[in-house]
Amino acid sequence: MEIIDGKALAKNIRENLKKDIENLKENGIYPKLAVILVGNDKASQVYVRSKNKACAELGIDYEEILLDEKTTMDKLLKIIDELNERKDISGILLQSPIPEGLDINEAFRRISPSKDVDGFNPISIGKLCLNQDTFVSCTPYGIMKMFEAYNIDVKGKHAVIIGRSNIVGKPMSLILLNRDATITICHSKTKNLEEITKQADILIAAIGKKHFVTADMVKQGAVVIDVGINRTEAGIFGDVDFENVKNKTSYITPVPGGVGPMTVAMLMNNVVKAAKQAI
Ligand code: NDP
Repeated sequence: MEIIDGKALAKNIRENLKKDIENLKENGIYPKLAVILVGNDKASQVYVRSKNKACAELGIDYEEILLDEKTTMDKLLKIIDELNERKDISGILLQSPIPEGLDINEAFRRISPSKDVDGFNPISIGKLCLNQDTFVSCTPYGIMKMFEAYNIDVKGKHAVIIGRSNIVGKPMSLILLNRDATITICHSKTKNLEEITKQADILIAAIGKKHFVTADMVKQGAVVIDVGINRTEAGIFGDVDFENVKNKTSYITPVPGGVGPMTVAMLMNNVVKAAKQAI
């Protein structure tokens, strides 16, 4: 069993990006990320802070647009339009969730595909579906980078993904399919979940329920990737019961220190990509 060290891997990616950014700046290109945060969601505030910190560390310019809970859809779209127009902004990120009553899909649709560093615009998702070059949403992209770094070949493997969200489960399944894995996507209506997960060579948990995946759901020797971030008073926990599952696996990611840091690193990667493409 080997624990995949997402923290170390993300550090390595950030160090390489830092050099890239220095070169870009020497050529007068200044990557800049704009983050829109609507409302007072506490977890979102934590995520936004970590994105700000990562930008500062790498020398990526950063602008935060804070909007109150009562923001209208018209105002949000107007702000996105302005950011789309601005030459100094390389990438735009709308932090989810946004308050009820606002249509996040319409907002994602409005972000220019050339600045869609989160990969949530339907054009980006469509391109991913067609296996064309695009901005890939950061969590699934980071997981693929983990597979590459640890020489985990996904070709022909049976990958089971628990969770079908637009930001994790669905894009994850598309990337794996593009890399020749065989995919099963499970969700809350899936019957006989355990029978399916036990067939997985690669099991990806993106559910949002602490320790949902237990040892009896995992095949001996499987690769287990834990996307879950469950905040409790006792700390942060993944969707996988790590201590009991780990000895059955060939590779496993911890929480914290697994997928989370990779997500932020891939966001930085996408901002740099956007800045280069804008040249
Ligand atoms: P969502 O709530 O959007 O999706 C959860 C998915 O889990 C849904 O598809 C849901 O099914 C499925 N699900 C819920 N209960 C069950 C069940 N009993 N059996 C099978 N499937 C079930 O969550 P996200 O995809 O946004 O996030 C998932 C987790 O990953 C969260 O903990 C989140 O905090 C974390 N996360 C971590 C990131 C990182 O960087 N590490 C980045 C993004 C998210 P259904 O569709 O039927 O409702």
